[in-house]
Amino acid sequence: MTPVRAPLLAGAALIGLYAVLPSGLSRDAVYLAVGLGCVAAIVLGVRRHRPVARAPWYLLAGGQGAWVLGDMIYSWDQDVRHVSPFPSNADVAYLLAYPLLAAGIALLIRRGGRRFDLRGLIDSGIVVVSLGLVSWAWIARPMVENADVPLFDRIIAVAYPVGDILLMAMLVRLVGAPGVSSIALRLLAGAVILQVVADTGRAAGVSESWNYASELDGLWLASYVLWGACALHPQMSEISRRSRARDDLFTVRRVVVLGAAAVLPTLTAGVALAFGHSMDPWVLLGGAIVLTVLVVLRMASGIAEIRLTAQQRDRLQEELLRRAAHDPLTGQFNRAYMLRIIQGALRRAGSTGAATGLIVIDLDDFASVNNAVGPAAADDVLIATARRISDTVGAAHPVGRLGGDQFVVLVEHADAEDLTPRIAGALASTLLVRHDTAHGAVRVVVRIGLTLGLDGSTDASELLHQALIASRRAKLAAAGTFEVFDSNLRREVAERKAVEHELRAAIDEDALELRYQPVVSVSAAVVDGYEALVRWRRPSGVLGMPDEFIPIAEKSDLICELGRWVLMSATGQFAAWLERDPVRFSSLTIAVNISGRHLADRRIVTDVAAALNASGLASHHLVIEVTEMVLVDEPRAVIQLDALRALGVTISLDDFGTGYTSIGQLRHLPVDTIKIDRSFLSLSEPGSSELIALMTAAAHACGMLVVAEGVERDDQLMLLKALDCDAAQGYLFARPLTSAAVLDGVEPVRHPRLRIVRDT
Ligand code: C2E
Ligand code: MG
Ligand code: MG
Repeated sequence: MTPVRAPLLAGAALIGLYAVLPSGLSRDAVYLAVGLGCVAAIVLGVRRHRPVARAPWYLLAGGQGAWVLGDMIYSWDQDVRHVSPFPSNADVAYLLAYPLLAAGIALLIRRGGRRFDLRGLIDSGIVVVSLGLVSWAWIARPMVENADVPLFDRIIAVAYPVGDILLMAMLVRLVGAPGVSSIALRLLAGAVILQVVADTGRAAGVSESWNYASELDGLWLASYVLWGACALHPQMSEISRRSRARDDLFTVRRVVVLGAAAVLPTLTAGVALAFGHSMDPWVLLGGAIVLTVLVVLRMASGIAEIRLTAQQRDRLQEELLRRAAHDPLTGQFNRAYMLRIIQGALRRAGSTGAATGLIVIDLDDFASVNNAVGPAAADDVLIATARRISDTVGAAHPVGRLGGDQFVVLVEHADAEDLTPRIAGALASTLLVRHDTAHGAVRVVVRIGLTLGLDGSTDASELLHQALIASRRAKLAAAGTFEVFDSNLRREVAERKAVEHELRAAIDEDALELRYQPVVSVSAAVVDGYEALVRWRRPSGVLGMPDEFIPIAEKSDLICELGRWVLMSATGQFAAWLERDPVRFSSLTIAVNISGRHLADRRIVTDVAAALNASGLASHHLVIEVTEMVLVDEPRAVIQLDALRALGVTISLDDFGTGYTSIGQLRHLPVDTIKIDRSFLSLSEPGSSELIALMTAAAHACGMLVVAEGVERDDQLMLLKALDCDAAQGYLFARPLTSAAVLDGVEPVRHPRLRIVRDT
C-alpha cells in the first residue's frame, strides 16, 4: 500500500482544503492543482515504472490534461469573467477528454488481447445498451426533449452521458479479464466510476438548471487523485500484462458485471413505474430485446466453449496419463514411472524382507547402429529389443526404458540372477531390420548390470544408480555375462558422496555459475524474460551440467543450499541488469528452478523473500519454476506455492505433461504459467501437435500462460504461433547465455528471431 499512500493522503488533504475554502480564485486554484498533479503523476508513473506499452498511459494523461484545460476555461469564465455560459469552450476540452481516455483504456486491453475479440465486443455491447437505456430514460431524454434549449446545446449536453457510457464499456472489459485484481487496477476502476457518477449527477441536475452542481466537485477531484495514485503504483505496468491471458472467459467478476447490466433496465423501468416517471415504452422494449439477444449470444458462445473443453479434457487427460507412465517409442514404462514402481517394490520388500532385483540392459555403442542404419531403423531396433526383453521376462516383471538405449527390468519375488542370462541370450541373436532406408541384419551387443536391494535402506533412484554402475562395468555380454553390483562398485557410490562434498564446498566458494536462457514471446518475438540455469565450474576447469549434480544434491538438504545460492545470484544479477539498462529489463522476468525438496522446506518462503530483499528486486520480476511432479509428491507444495504467490512472485509449472497433474485440477493449482515439456515439441509422434493444442487450450481456459520448451526449429515455432502459445524457449532463439552475452544481446524487437549464441 505504501507506494500510493503519499499521493492519496496529499489528494485527500487538498480535497479537504477545497471543501473549506470559500468559492473564488483560491479555491479554483486548489482544484487546478489537483488536476495538474494528476497529469504530472501519470507522466511520472510512466517514467518510473516503465510499462511495456506507454502509449495508453500518455493517452490517459492527455485525457486528464484535456479535462484540466476544461477546468481552467471554466474557472476563468466563473472567476474572472463572472459568466457561466453553456455550452462554452470548456465543454470542447471536456468532451475531448472522453475519446482520449476511452482510447487509452482500449489500448491497455489491446496490448494483451490477441486478435479480433467477438466476445469482448458483445460484453461491451451489453454494457452500452444497458447504460444507454437507463441514461436515455433519466438523463438524455429530458435533455433532448427540452425545447427551451437550442438543439446544438442539447447535443453537447447529451455528449457527456454518451462519453461516460463509452468509458464504462471499456472499463468492464478491462476489469472482466481474468488475472490478479491488483491495487492499481482497483484505483483505475475507482477513478473511472467516480468520474461517471459525478458526470451523471451533474447531468441529472442539468434539466433544471444549466449550472454545475458544485457538490460534485469533490467526486471529480477524488477521481483525479485515484488516476494519479494508480499511475504511481508499481503494479500499473501490469494492468496491460494481466489481460494477456484469455480475456473472454466467464470470470466471476465478469458474470456479476454483465448480470447487473442485464437487469439494470428492468430495475429502471420498475423504479420509473413506482415513482410515476414517464418512460418511452418503445425504446425500453427495443432496448430490452437487443439486450436479451446479446446476452443469449454471449451465453451460447460460452457454452460451446465449455462443452468442447469437457470432451477434449478427457482425451487430454487420458493421453497425458499414458505419456506420464510410458515411453512413447517402445510403449514400455518410462524412467519416472519405473522409479515409482521400484519405490513401491522396495517398500513392500522392506516389510517382507524379500530382495528387490534391478536389471539394467545397456546397448553397447548404439550410436554406430544409428549411423549404420539411420535413425528410423535404429528406432525399430530399440522397439524390437524392448519386445525381446519383455517377452523374455514375462508380464510379472515390469520393463522400462530409461531413455536412449538403456532398459531396466524390475524383478520382484523371483531370482534376478536367473533371469539375467536369459535376457542376454534372447538379445544375442541377430535382428532383421526391414525399413525403407535400411535392410539387413543388426546385432546388438549389450552390457547388463544387476543389483539387489536387500535392506530397506536404499531408495529407488539409489538402486537404479547401482544397477547402472554395474552395467557400465559389465563386460560386453553378447556371451551372456553380466555384472552384479558388489563391494567393488560401492566405491563408485563413495565417489558420489565425494561429489556431494565437493559440491557443498563449491557453493561456499562460489564455484557455481549461472547461465541465462531467454524466453521469447511467440507473437511479438521479443524477450519476455530469462531462465537461470546453474553450472558448476569443477576444479578441473570443466563446466558441470545440472544433470550431473542436481540429482545428487537432491538427495540431501544440499539442494536447499544450492537453491538459496541460485535465488540470491539470479535476483542479484537481474537487479544489476535492471540498474544498467532499465528500459530493456523493466518489463522482463527472471525465472529460477526450485526443486521439490526445497519447496517442501518451510524456509522456502523466507529464502525467496530474503533474495528479493537483498537484491531490492520487485517481486513481480521473479518467476519460480517447479516441476509438475512436485505437486504430486509433496503435499505441502501447494500451500507453499500459495505463500510464494502472496509475495507477488509468479509460479511456473515446469516440464508440464510429464507428470500426473489432472487437467481438472489445473484450475485449482496456484500456478500462473505452464511450461510444456520439450518431449512434446519433437513432433515426431503423431498427435503431438494436437496435444500441445489441447494443453494450451486447457491452460488458457484456466487463465494461465503457456511457454513451450525446447524449440529448435522454425516449423515448431510456426506451429506454436498457430496454436496460440504465448511464449517459447529453445536453441532456435538462444542457448543459455552468460550474463555478459545477455547484456551484449541485441533486443530482437524487430527480428523474427534472436540470433543463436553459443553456450559459453
Ligand atoms: P529445465 O528447467 O526444464 O531447463 C531447460 C533445460 O533444457 C536446460 O538444460 C536447457 O539448456 C535445455 N534446453 C533449452 N532449450 C533447448 C532446446 O532447444 N533443445 C534442447 N535439447 N534442450 C534445450 P540444463 O541447463 O542442462 O538444465 C537441465 C535441468 O536441470 C533443468 O531443466 C532443471 O530442471 C535443472 N536445473 C537447472 N538449473 C537448476 C537450478 O538452479 N536449480 C534446480 N533445482 N534445478 C536446476
Ligand atoms: Mg526450468
Ligand atoms: Mg523444463
